[in-house]
Amino acid sequence: MNETAATDSTQIICRRLPGRTAVVTGGASGIGLATAKRLASEGANIVIADTNADAGAAAAEAVGGLFVATDVTDQDQVENLFQTAFDTYGSVDIAFNNAGVSPPADASITETGLDVWRKVQDINLTSVYLCSQAALKHMRRQGRGSIINTASFVALMGSATSQVSYTASKGGVLALSRELGVEFAKEGIRVNALCPGPVNTELLRELFAKDPEMAARRLVHVPMGRFAEAGEMAAAVAFLASDDASFVTAQSFTVDGGLTNAYTTPL
Ligand code: NAD
Repeated sequence: MNETAATDSTQIICRRLPGRTAVVTGGASGIGLATAKRLASEGANIVIADTNADAGAAAAEAVGGLFVATDVTDQDQVENLFQTAFDTYGSVDIAFNNAGVSPPADASITETGLDVWRKVQDINLTSVYLCSQAALKHMRRQGRGSIINTASFVALMGSATSQVSYTASKGGVLALSRELGVEFAKEGIRVNALCPGPVNTELLRELFAKDPEMAARRLVHVPMGRFAEAGEMAAAVAFLASDDASFVTAQSFTVDGGLTNAYTTPL
């Protein structure tokens, strides 16, 4: 199989965000952490929000930023997060609303209970409503801002290996982002949804290291023949956050190695 190697996007020197302030939820790990590093390398002040206090504090230290312990399902904590970012750095320019979960108990609709359904909706979708609302308060006052919400390729296509609440939550993130992008377009605020394909983060590694068959079942659908690296998502977020994307809003921005547009894939 011919594989296209990933570029280490965290190492590319490009400074498009000097003086901008970025809030990154789920910034202690995976896509959020890689994005915090990338945005910092482009000159942004970084505020990391996560429930994992140790990893969150370490991530903030690594990027010379601030850690605010936040459960993104809690309205007061979310408002405090964005207010703290504003009070510390004087603006809120970028909101990367990215925290999310995909618990094993969320599977086929035939076996997924209401408690699991609600938990996933809360963390993956309600959190994006709360974070977008809190970010918009600051951005509307400033007349400027870029919100990027993490959806998923499963918001665009169905999967026989179902995670029913996860998929529905990401469809919601996509629709919510599109609507906000349209509503606030004339106020200088752009809102886009990032749709990653499968990404080589701890979550995925743990799942598939235990079960290579599960990995193979999914990899065959990716034309590039590999999972994405978190830095490749970070590069897309940095573009959407920057003025290079000044005419890009209300979009589902797909970074998936060709997955969602493939019928057959290269052998
Ligand atoms: P990850 O598990 O590495 O990181 C998620 C982070 O969110 C963790 O640090 C976790 O502590 C934090 N978090 C969880 N619940 C939280 C809460 N209530 N409040 C605050 N923080 C919380 O996962 P990742 O792979 O980097 O995923 C990031 C986002 O990308 C998620 O929204 C996920 O659904 C999405 N995504 C991931 C993939 C993939 O293949 N990894 C593909 C498509 C979309």
